[in-house]
Amino acid sequence: MSMDITFLGTGSAYPSPHRGASALVLRTEGECWLFDCGEGTQTQLMRSPLKASKITKVFISHLHGDHLFGLPGLLCTVSLNCNPQASQPPACVDIYGPQGLRRFLRVALVLSSSQLLFPYAVHELVPCGGQSPAEGQLDPRVTDSSDQLHPQEQPGQTIHLDTDSDCYTLFEDKQFTVKALRLFHRIPSFGFCVQERDRPGRLNVEQLKKLGLKPGPLYGRLKNGESVTLDSGQVVSPGDVVEPAIPGRKVCILGDCSSLVGEGPAKVCQGADVLVHEATLAEGHRERALEHGHSTPHMAAAVARACRTRVLVLNHFSQRYKPLISQKDSEEDDGGEADVRELKRQAEEALSGTGTLVVLAEDFLTLPVPLKRP
Ligand SMILES: [Zn+2]
Ligand SMILES: [Zn+2]
Repeated sequence: MSMDITFLGTGSAYPSPHRGASALVLRTEGECWLFDCGEGTQTQLMRSPLKASKITKVFISHLHGDHLFGLPGLLCTVSLNCNPQASQPPACVDIYGPQGLRRFLRVALVLSSSQLLFPYAVHELVPCGGQSPAEGQLDPRVTDSSDQLHPQEQPGQTIHLDTDSDCYTLFEDKQFTVKALRLFHRIPSFGFCVQERDRPGRLNVEQLKKLGLKPGPLYGRLKNGESVTLDSGQVVSPGDVVEPAIPGRKVCILGDCSSLVGEGPAKVCQGADVLVHEATLAEGHRERALEHGHSTPHMAAAVARACRTRVLVLNHFSQRYKPLISQKDSEEDDGGEADVRELKRQAEEALSGTGTLVVLAEDFLTLPVPLKRP
């Protein structure tokens, strides 16, 4: 099954002609999950090969506008493009994010008299005290969502930290488990860990033929890990004829942060195939990055190192860092301190010897996440 990540916006603070505000799509066969939805995400989607109507789940890392202001508009446009005569009723769009998101979306949709042709539900994560300075914590009166639901809104869950694992379990299905983890930022922020389930290894057909086994129900039993006894009395165990299981992929997408909070995040992200981490400013601006709850390439690299990540993708760049594409034809390309490649160099320097690959996110970059065949 194919899986890839498409970056729709890689700039911090606001969308510019050079970089869109934060948004990326994790695509698996048939489904698109949107992570963050800064202003302008819908136009970025239109310019990409992706279809907004394929988005089934949305994950919002934190409530800063550069990650959120695009959401009401995107939902309205998806609705405009819905077919009201479709034979099947539209599926509910599940939206996950910090406490306050339900009210934000409800007020935006109600005050603009926006009706949707599909239902939606907002599942809220309850932040903990240590995720921001005191002034970044919202008054419960502001986040209260006990009033009337929007006509297309379905009741969502309120998800608390699981103190045993030190993370939040958002959902589990046949293919994936999705967890959220705590991050420190100016306001409470979260990361998301998408873990694909391992899949059973393929049957070694040649070996089966040698044993005289014909295709049929016995194949299924062996694939499911059962031993079978042949007419001859010979016992065939799955290890004889089934190749090793294919490990599920793990993709971790972190919101704005200057650090992880607690022990859980590094555990949950351990061995990630891809870690998407912000690197808003270069090492020379570390103080300023910290002051705003952001990271530098060395800080992102330290997280990748602690999690033993295969690939570290840097994103959420200050708008001072122009994209590589525009740099190529630019006279000003002097390799100076506003060169985005400097961020990559700094992360690589901090990861030397680890084998972790560093990638710079760019708007419309699609990064495949291949299966790890043993
Ligand atoms: Zn941001
Ligand atoms: Zn932020």
